[in-house]
Amino acid sequence: DSDEVEQFDYLFKIVLIGDAGVGKTCIVQRFKSGLFMEQYGSTIGVDFTMKTIVIDDKKIKLQIWDTAGQERFKTITQSYYRSAHAVLLVYDITKEKSFENIEKWLEDVRKYTGNNVLKVLIGNKCDLEQARRISTEKAKLFSEKYNMFSMIEVSAKDCCNINESFINLTKELVSLHSDSKFISNDINLVLGERERQTEERGRYGTREYR
Ligand code: GDP
Ligand code: MG
Repeated sequence: DSDEVEQFDYLFKIVLIGDAGVGKTCIVQRFKSGLFMEQYGSTIGVDFTMKTIVIDDKKIKLQIWDTAGQERFKTITQSYYRSAHAVLLVYDITKEKSFENIEKWLEDVRKYTGNNVLKVLIGNKCDLEQARRISTEKAKLFSEKYNMFSMIEVSAKDCCNINESFINLTKELVSLHSDSKFISNDINLVLGERERQTEERGRYGTREYR
């Protein structure tokens, strides 16, 4: 029965933000499929990706939102952030500007999310050690200053720390929300999923984003 509702214990919305080119799409695709591609075409930019993981016998669905290029024009809207449980702020360890801009992205987080949204600072491209411009120490201090849950350096290319980032974050979300009965019934998230399924059946991969 295709209308049967899939059972799960938790559903969390996770959004990725950060400058264009830092590797957000590669991180999501690496986590979702275990693969890395040098370039993702503009049509891959669907609204969100679903990934189910099991931690301590609990089935947890993650609804992971990636931008479809809007960050290039700073036109990420409030609806992108709506009902988010966690925000991944991504920079490129070889690009100083992408780290400085995290402060700008935090302004949006402040404006568009609740106070209890979990923030994680992610330094991507740690395979490019010889081109590093941002020290681990500096990023760590920054994450503490802004009360982030954690700071982690990853590489979507080498598949370093990608799963760990999502799993640690999810464990924290579960412990924060373990007493909220209705978490998996969040109307925005469930509606979003229905739209997504329609999308997959019908027009997946053919939609153009710019
Ligand atoms: P987005 O604009 O933030 O979504 O960035 P993309 O995921 O499209 O990646 C931008 C560019 O960075 C692409 O050319 C990727 O191949 C490259 N890239 C992404 N992740 C890594 C990484 O971990 N290491 C290296 N060396 N390159 C990466
Ligand atoms: Mg992208």
